[in-house]
Amino acid sequence: MRDITIAIDGFSSTGKSTIAKKLADKLGYVYVDTGAMYRAVALFALQNQCIEKDVVNEEKLIASLDAIQIKFKYNPQVGFAEVYLNDENVESKIRTLEVSKYVSPVATISEVRKMLVNQQQDMGKGKGIVMDGRDIGTVVFPEAELKIFMTASAETRAQRRYRELKERGNNISYDEVLENVTTRDKIDTTREDSPLVKAEDAIEIDNSDLTIEEQLLRILNLANTLIHKKSDCN
Ligand code: C5P
Repeated sequence: MRDITIAIDGFSSTGKSTIAKKLADKLGYVYVDTGAMYRAVALFALQNQCIEKDVVNEEKLIASLDAIQIKFKYNPQVGFAEVYLNDENVESKIRTLEVSKYVSPVATISEVRKMLVNQQQDMGKGKGIVMDGRDIGTVVFPEAELKIFMTASAETRAQRRYRELKERGNNISYDEVLENVTTRDKIDTTREDSPLVKAEDAIEIDNSDLTIEEQLLRILNLANTLIHKKSDCN
């Protein structure tokens, strides 16, 4: 038995974090939501006047990066590690449509990516980790033993996200959510630095018609096979 690194990448609102959390729970692994880290930087930008007239002021944000400290702290009540921005729990503040609107432009900035990728690589040094995002299998952990790439149609994803936001009391329309999902897809797949692409050795799962249990079982089987695989040297 050995500890492995599990990278889960894919488009917005494909349910990556739901699966990644459950998977980490089953395996006793650490779970890291890297989207939450980019969202925390976008929240910082919003709170510190680094967004002017709807546009991210890259220079100002880059000059402020030293003032951004992102940490995760495990909350036993919810069963996962929540994200903290400069010692404030921002887990719910980062999930608004406003933050969703600016997070992808913020994530195109190479200096931001460099800072967060370094932290992510540090967190995964000891393996035994499930990390989800857009560039985990390609940039953060290209050597990850298991790479999953999640997809689903934009409409399915927007519907899921819309339901989630409504349940949290957000007053938004389905069309706004669909627009946000497709805009983020476009920015994430076309940016110059670490665009969202499927790693060559990733296993693609289209979960449009799969339940959470079905997806979890499939990935858990793949993970267990690798965890119990005898080393090639034996
Ligand atoms: O996963 P989530 O939808 O919360 O991610 C928010 C945004 O953060 C993505 O749309 C993407 O722009 C950015 N992101 C990224 N690289 C990651 C994780 C997220 O660029 N590893």
